[in-house]
Amino acid sequence: MRKEGNLLLPSGDGGGTVADLLNDIEALGGVDTQFVTHNHDVNGPFQEAVYDRFEAKLSYHVAEHNAVVEKTKCPSVEFGDEGVQLGSDFQALYFPSCCAGSSLYYWQDSGNHFLFASHVINMVEDGWQIGLDLWQYKNLRDWGERISPPDPEPQLSKIANLPIGYIVPNVYREGQEEFHRFTEDTRKSFSTTLERRLKEEAPNLQA
Ligand SMILES: [Zn+2]
Repeated sequence: MRKEGNLLLPSGDGGGTVADLLNDIEALGGVDTQFVTHNHDVNGPFQEAVYDRFEAKLSYHVAEHNAVVEKTKCPSVEFGDEGVQLGSDFQALYFPSCCAGSSLYYWQDSGNHFLFASHVINMVEDGWQIGLDLWQYKNLRDWGERISPPDPEPQLSKIANLPIGYIVPNVYREGQEEFHRFTEDTRKSFSTTLERRLKEEAPNLQA
């Protein structure tokens, strides 16, 4: 719950019917904006039901526009590579991965820092899987007359060094943790794995 307005973020659905979920959301004070990381997280009828009840628009990166509007008629607000900052506690971080317009969401609450990562970043058997994809960034977006797109590395490497306490995926398999609480070791390995992935992906900016 935020005093500036509640945000609905992608996470596991936890079961229950749409009606139950809407009642749960209402009990928590309703919702002002629904954020999805990318179109794979869109559940059209659910997003429309939330809009009908709370008038909460759907928000996502502009490069997801075509794929999202195929899945839902929910009115939307789009943002660009600079992401979105809401108040001092919430931001959208552009992070091209399985889709060219994917984002991560970062939220601070009472000294805790949460990164909502959809199925893009997962801790699997003691190792990080980070689905960064700069080929999609370079080739599946419309760069108009530009010969090469802006280098996203500075913005992406900032994520490697953010304070993060918890990472919250929206899918998890049997036996896999529902969310990950960072330890000193996993925070360090997250940072080094992301830096390594950035180096591995860099040649795709030329390809
Ligand atoms: Zn995806």
